[in-house]
Amino acid sequence: MSLKPGVVSGKDYLELIKACKEGGYALPAVNVVGTDSVNAVLEAAAKNNADVIIQLSNGGAEFYAGKGMPDSFQAKVLGAVAAAKHVHLLAEHYGVCVVLHTDHANKKLIPWVEAMLDHGEAFYKETGKPLFTSHMVDLSEEEIDFNLSECARLLERMVKLDMSIEIELGVTGGEEDGVGSDEIDNDKLYTQPEDCLQAFELLSKIGHFSLAASFGNVHGVYKPGNVKLRPEILKNAQALVQEKHGTDHNPLDLVFHGGSGSEKAKIDESLGYGVFKMNIDTDTQFAFAEGVGKFVLENEKAFKYQIDPETGEPYKKSYDPRKWLRKGEENMIARLDEAFADLKSAGKSIATKKGNAIAA
Ligand SMILES: [Zn+2]
Repeated sequence: MSLKPGVVSGKDYLELIKACKEGGYALPAVNVVGTDSVNAVLEAAAKNNADVIIQLSNGGAEFYAGKGMPDSFQAKVLGAVAAAKHVHLLAEHYGVCVVLHTDHANKKLIPWVEAMLDHGEAFYKETGKPLFTSHMVDLSEEEIDFNLSECARLLERMVKLDMSIEIELGVTGGEEDGVGSDEIDNDKLYTQPEDCLQAFELLSKIGHFSLAASFGNVHGVYKPGNVKLRPEILKNAQALVQEKHGTDHNPLDLVFHGGSGSEKAKIDESLGYGVFKMNIDTDTQFAFAEGVGKFVLENEKAFKYQIDPETGEPYKKSYDPRKWLRKGEENMIARLDEAFADLKSAGKSIATKKGNAIAA
């Protein structure tokens, strides 16, 4: 199985997910905020011969359009559209498959998703392809019936554009702080298998969905060790759906949120339970900052003076943004090398290689 390099969607996306699950690996879904981070992800994927997921949060999309844009809602929409078009244009030239995704949209952000779909419909008319492979709609804070019926409504619209939806069940840690005890047994942090079954029964009739299930994962608020990752939750959800509907092994396409800083052994275990996507943001943000920061500290004067006041040395070669932004990109790429290795996706790109177009 191989796919044309570039943005994948529809049936091709399902092929890619299948390749991940059958191959026991997952793709990093990396949050980006501008062309520097987008290009770093593309470069890292090409370097690792791995397929990848490029993702924007509503804030990332807003930043992409420009923090100074007067209408911030418009910026969230147009920034996402601009980023997607950037990736559509460039991805194939990196020779790998790229999934375009958006991140958490809660109830207040449903209009954001709908506005992106308006643009998606226009793009589809023009090109026959969806603008985004998939949008996430995260109504995990709402009652499950509302969560699922709203996701169903949006999926019906997305299906017409060959799109998928990502939903969330159970609360990814990070909003209720001060859960002070060592052993937390908070049901909400752990998705119930029955809820996954309910989602499967409603949504799989409509189209394709992926599922962010909580198994103790956090977005980085809890101290390490405060919440236990329990990947067996994922295993139980898969087993329940398989048993009730006589499906193949691991019928659910699962997403691991809060991947930054997770124990490697738990990541490894989750791969066996149908996780094909792991979100990473905090660690790649830090990597970018660390790369820039190191350069700035080593070249302090170049960030104060155009010409050295004592020696007369010109610093243009150091303060040129291409110099220090590149340091951020390079360090982000190094962190992504690690992610591709952890997720076992390095070397597994299913994109057709140049000069090898017929090979399967
Ligand atoms: Zn998340």
